[in-house]
Amino acid sequence: MTASLQLRSGKDRSLTRRHPWIYTGAIGAIRGQPKSGETVRVHAADGRFLAWAAFSPESSIRARVWSFDEAQTIDADWIAQRLSQAIGRRSRFVAGQDAVRLVFGEADGLPGLVVDRYRNQLVVQFLAAGVDAWREVIVQALIRLTGCTDVYERSDASARQREGLESREGVLAGQAPQAPIEIDENGVRFAVDVLAGHKTGFYIDQRDNRALVAAHADGRRVLNCFCYTGGFSLAALKGGASGVLSIDSSGPALQFARSNQQLNGFGQLSAEQCDWSEDNVFDALKRLAAEDRRFDLIVLDPPKFAPSAHHVERAARAYKEINLKALRLLEPGGLLFTFSCSGAIGVELFQKIIAGAVFDAGVEMQMLRRLQAGDDHPMLMTHPEGEYLKGLMLLRV
Ligand code: SAH
Repeated sequence: MTASLQLRSGKDRSLTRRHPWIYTGAIGAIRGQPKSGETVRVHAADGRFLAWAAFSPESSIRARVWSFDEAQTIDADWIAQRLSQAIGRRSRFVAGQDAVRLVFGEADGLPGLVVDRYRNQLVVQFLAAGVDAWREVIVQALIRLTGCTDVYERSDASARQREGLESREGVLAGQAPQAPIEIDENGVRFAVDVLAGHKTGFYIDQRDNRALVAAHADGRRVLNCFCYTGGFSLAALKGGASGVLSIDSSGPALQFARSNQQLNGFGQLSAEQCDWSEDNVFDALKRLAAEDRRFDLIVLDPPKFAPSAHHVERAARAYKEINLKALRLLEPGGLLFTFSCSGAIGVELFQKIIAGAVFDAGVEMQMLRRLQAGDDHPMLMTHPEGEYLKGLMLLRV
């Protein structure tokens, strides 16, 4: 018999509103002995059916909803259909790109599953017990649906730890990439290190924002903080920037950045035109101020400063500090593209933090745009936690 979770009285509200997570505190009783990832039936205290969900015995999110429809059967066909729908949707919104997020977890009705495609290479992250239990089915369906035969796993994210799952990396099907995969993103080329790069190798989510920076870079002196493998830097050079200084604390990332510079035919540029600095951004911004340097376009794309709600206050101070310091380096007429990828920091809070930095810097800034991840990183309206990347495009007047 299917195991089931009975929620405490009054704890069915969020599920009724189609939020897909069931926290431990909401569960009144567990019937049967569901294994990790097993499909359980979830019902309200009064017995009403609420959802089918994947059980996760170690996580504080004890179950994640597959479906709110009692008539559905969660089996291999059902999983394949969800995958097919996710991939099908992408073809309308991000056609012709070499690097695409094909599946984005909760937003695509497959909690905890991330699938990125770099040309013909698929890279998968199983970040919750439910999708982990269906891993073989998922891999076979992905191969069938995409025609890609090489599938690599990068389930090394901290999210897995919270699910009580060990970190897993390696070939799931076909071959491991023998060399970095070269992708073209709106005319800029990047070598992606699927084996050892961050996330699945590349920050696909910033595609549109890199294009936006390219469109505004002409003739400008650019500072790109937290540059990783040079995403925004090369977009800016492609867009005609007069010079780009890029900073990151990771040596291996900068090595890739330099080879990406070559890849795009910028190998001959002087250090004035294209410079990579291995440094802590907090220190580098101080040094640049001391040297009286000025820029016409600055990008701040830091790592997740707030990994959870507990870290919000400290993270807010860090966001404020780098933005304040960057604003002091920005010429009148200059542009600031500033981001946060902390899910725990909402759009409004982020805007407040930046407004505080603007005030303290004593400059006047107009907001031209709110920025977010690309269309292949959607957010489910009933699951606002899925919105993580946010940014502002500001103009110094
Ligand atoms: N903008 C990039 C992605 C940035 S990811 C792109 O478009 O591809 C964040 C980067 O910040 C990582 O490369 C990481 O190495 C770097 N980083 C983290 N902490 C840092 C610090 N204190 N100083 C400099 N770089 C840092």
